[in-house]
Amino acid sequence: RTTVTVTGGGADNTTIHQNMSKIRVCVRFRPLNSTEKKQFDGKLCVKELDDESFLFNAEREENVAFCFDKVFYQNSKQHDVYEFLAKPMVHDVLDLMNSTIITYGQTGAGKTYTMEGPDISNCEESNKGLIPRVIEELFRSIECSNERNLYTIKLSMVEIYMEKIRDLFDITKDNIQIKESKMHGVFLSGVTEVSIMDKKQALSFLERGISNRTVGATQMNMSSSRSHCLYIFSVQKESRKDKRSKTGKLILVDLAGSEKVEKTGAEGKVFEEAKTINKSLSALGNVINALTTGKSNHIPYRDSKLTRVLQDSLGGFSHCALLCCCSASFINTSESLSTLRFGIRSKFIKMPVNVSQVIDEEKPSHSTSVITDKEMFQRKN
Ligand code: ADP
Ligand code: MG
Repeated sequence: RTTVTVTGGGADNTTIHQNMSKIRVCVRFRPLNSTEKKQFDGKLCVKELDDESFLFNAEREENVAFCFDKVFYQNSKQHDVYEFLAKPMVHDVLDLMNSTIITYGQTGAGKTYTMEGPDISNCEESNKGLIPRVIEELFRSIECSNERNLYTIKLSMVEIYMEKIRDLFDITKDNIQIKESKMHGVFLSGVTEVSIMDKKQALSFLERGISNRTVGATQMNMSSSRSHCLYIFSVQKESRKDKRSKTGKLILVDLAGSEKVEKTGAEGKVFEEAKTINKSLSALGNVINALTTGKSNHIPYRDSKLTRVLQDSLGGFSHCALLCCCSASFINTSESLSTLRFGIRSKFIKMPVNVSQVIDEEKPSHSTSVITDKEMFQRKN
């Protein structure tokens, strides 16, 4: 048994219950790659506690315990992530609710693998990413509903690169403007929206969009994407009564790598890219913070294109899930910690302070500072 001290900032002892946060925050650790397997004897910096919590050990530092809505460990399946995160949102969007899933993490952490799979339209069934599964479920559900003729499904794909929005279905549109109207809320003016009739057609559009993404090379990953990529599914349903249509949007966001600039050995253009990426990721963090505190009447959506585009999906009546992607290798502990802390900040209004709890642990060799939900630890006693 190890004494676990909960430490953190904040002026009072308020611990915010998970259910109060409308943003579901989950973590996924990808399997070690061949380089990581060779280093540190392939040891992991993560010790699984249960499917919501783990101990994280950055070498020579004390353990940190984390608790999220769900943790997907190295052997997790694409199917598990889909069932937990995306499937409920497909049904929300069919009910015309706005929903968003965002993958966050350093380059190489598994964001694109989670979203697309190893190949959007050509891979083993079990490796398929969230997007092809979402498409299958969308069409399966409307075919089963006897209301097929009332639904129209449209797809857009854009990337945000250096604070410019590029249409990935029509690369001549390289500076799409964001507009707002009472009728449509926040929208991308003039963006290409293709109607999709079936899965095959949707995948072929996505393939085209993916091949249009801006890809740069950094030391960390030769094919790392330096842009945020947004896959936008609009589900329009006509009312039988008055023939008026309503629309729900499901936006899947594959963010650019969150790594620190120094680590990439970046210079010139790459340095400017990294600065822009960091700025928009901070803006995203600030918006999520402002939303979760519920105190701020000014939500800084306009601080970046990313947050402005996502305005209706993050605020208002919408559901949002953030998946923090990490490597469980000791090579990447500082980036992983920063990713996990981003996730925690998105989850809580205030960090819990000065709470001592006890949890079971085989080797009580480290003192453990915890930034997590007090209740989770009470359950373990
Ligand atoms: P990111 O988009 O975050 O930069 P990728 O999704 O491209 O990272 O993943 C980096 C590499 O790791 C890719 O070769 C990918 O196939 C592999 N990978 C990532 N996550 C997994 C996973 N859960 N299972 C198997 N391989 C994975
Ligand atoms: Mg990627």
